[in-house]
Amino acid sequence: MMELETRRLEGDEMEFVLSEANPAFANALRRAMLREVPIMAIDEVEFVANDSVMYDEILSHNLGLVPLRTPDGYLMPDECKCKEDRCSRCSVSLSLKREGPVTVTSGDLKSSDKKVVPVGASIMLVKLDKEQKLEFTAIARLGLGKEHSKWQPGVISYKYMPIFEVDLKACDACGACIERCPRNILELSKDKVKITDIEKCTMCQTCVEACPREAIRIGHDDSRFIFRIESTGALPPERILLKAIEALGKRCKEFVKQVKKL
Ligand SMILES: [Zn+2]
Repeated sequence: MMELETRRLEGDEMEFVLSEANPAFANALRRAMLREVPIMAIDEVEFVANDSVMYDEILSHNLGLVPLRTPDGYLMPDECKCKEDRCSRCSVSLSLKREGPVTVTSGDLKSSDKKVVPVGASIMLVKLDKEQKLEFTAIARLGLGKEHSKWQPGVISYKYMPIFEVDLKACDACGACIERCPRNILELSKDKVKITDIEKCTMCQTCVEACPREAIRIGHDDSRFIFRIESTGALPPERILLKAIEALGKRCKEFVKQVKKL
């Protein structure tokens, strides 16, 4: 059975080890986290005034990239029965009205839902000179990373669990590998070379090349993966993982239904 061990969970970052899996599943899980986890992003902007140097289209695009906190409970536009995709169940409006001289930031956006706000208040949007006005209403909706990168909940990466092997007959404990390891994770223990933290190994092969007696072999375990989630702040990293697994489960269920029809 597949197993998951959390290594680190701090703020917007999470590291975990997935065991008894395989490369196809690890890749599917990463893609599901990137592409199938719904988060909020600004999707439409209606300008009342824009005297800034920035075109409406550019400003709209930049607003789309401002990460927004995403609470549970909102409907995807295609799940909602409202006609214009902008009722309070499927959308949030963020309005802004400023007059220069001022630097307009994400903190100036006033949301219709206190739970759907920019992750940070200091993202610079545009500078307004004296008497320049900027006024608009932006509509944020749930969307998926596979539709547009603004709906990607973060950066997701994984690597294979490294394997470090020493031929104890060949190794004469000269220490060349220990000196050269850029991660400083090799040590001598009872005259034998040992790795102190295998998960920190980047499989760079420096130790293999450093060894004059060709005693070291670096490999990887293709059933164990070290995952890293760096959330934009839209969702806590553990929610990104959970929602991705739910999305994978939903797809499997739909597949089962189709197979049953055969
Ligand atoms: Zn709606």
